[in-house]
Amino acid sequence: MAGILVFAELQGGAFATGSLGLLEEAERLGQALGEPVHALVCGDVDGSQAAALGRHGATVVHVAAGGGYGLAQPIVDAVATLQAAESFRYLLFGASIAASDAAAGAAVRLDAGLVIDAVELAADGGELVTRRAGLGDSVLAHCAFTTPVGVVVVRANAFAAAEDRSGPDAELRTFAPEFRTFSTAARISGHEEAEQSGVDIGEADVLVGGGRGLGKAENFALCEALAAALGGAVAATRAVVDAGWYPYSSQVGQTGKMVSPRCYIAVGISGAIQHKVGMQSSGLIVAINKDANAPIFDFADFGVVGDLHAIVPKLTELVKARG
Ligand SMILES: Cc1cc2nc3c(=O)[nH]c(=O)nc-3n(C[C@H](O)[C@H](O)[C@H](O)COP(=O)(O)OP(=O)(O)OC[C@H]3O[C@@H](n4cnc5c(N)ncnc54)[C@H](O)[C@@H]3O)c2cc1C
Repeated sequence: MAGILVFAELQGGAFATGSLGLLEEAERLGQALGEPVHALVCGDVDGSQAAALGRHGATVVHVAAGGGYGLAQPIVDAVATLQAAESFRYLLFGASIAASDAAAGAAVRLDAGLVIDAVELAADGGELVTRRAGLGDSVLAHCAFTTPVGVVVVRANAFAAAEDRSGPDAELRTFAPEFRTFSTAARISGHEEAEQSGVDIGEADVLVGGGRGLGKAENFALCEALAAALGGAVAATRAVVDAGWYPYSSQVGQTGKMVSPRCYIAVGISGAIQHKVGMQSSGLIVAINKDANAPIFDFADFGVVGDLHAIVPKLTELVKARG
């Protein structure tokens, strides 16, 4: 096993900037390990565009012929075909929906070790040692491989690509992946952009988070009135997003956004770990909950035990009265 393969993902006809940054990081890693760096491109790409990956650190670019690469399985087939011929030691993917899926599939197909959400790649004793964030980014675990082949999914945009990098073109090699029947059984029939409306909760100074304790979608008006009085925005838990009460763009937590406003007011939110990891770094956490034993009170700076329907309108009035 020798060499590093980087999956260079095409998005809308151009290489994802995260892939370019990852390729540059792989070049640095390759120099430290004494390993060559190759890139894999799946999809329609013209020769000069693919060869230009040489500027970002690839010495060879393998272009997989065929189509349907918007889905993960054809990419897994391409990786497996290439790996059978080249025997790379490490395969690196920048996190995206398709690339993360493909990395997981490739790890299974190749019987390789898998590290996800890596934020650093380091050479140590001739081996790749990744640093992987855990427990809501509060710890960094150092992960190495016990398998001959290691697959790494790097956190999205963990490595920035240099603006104007020069360098020689990479050598181009085209190959035909051996597609499995099931890999081509599904295809993408269209793309739709999710609507993003209102304030970006990642940017807001004050967030009023609404949870299932609100009882129904209409009661989010209470959070909206308080947020408006404070000049902030409204966030939500997954429970209410899943129930269709509020849009996904407002979801805070493990499968939503990470936020750290100056003040986070949790209204009718229990404080489950998956929500906590998304907002625990907020400056001041205020919780309003009728259950004195709700986990949110374990990490709130200020807690009010009571019915949100009585407390939130009064709080909004007080804030408005103070101007
Ligand atoms: C893999 C995975 C990923 C997940 N990702 C996320 C994520 O990204 N974000 C997220 O939020 N969750 C996530 N979850 C879900 C999470 O585990 C919780 O189920 C969810 O956060 C609970 O939302 P909640 O606090 O609104 O609802 P609940 O847990 O039902 O809490 C409602 C709270 O409202 C209080 N309440 C009820 N009525 C009133 C009232 N009248 N006045 C005051 N208080 C009242 C109750 O005492 C209770 O504490 C994930 C779960 C899994 C398994």
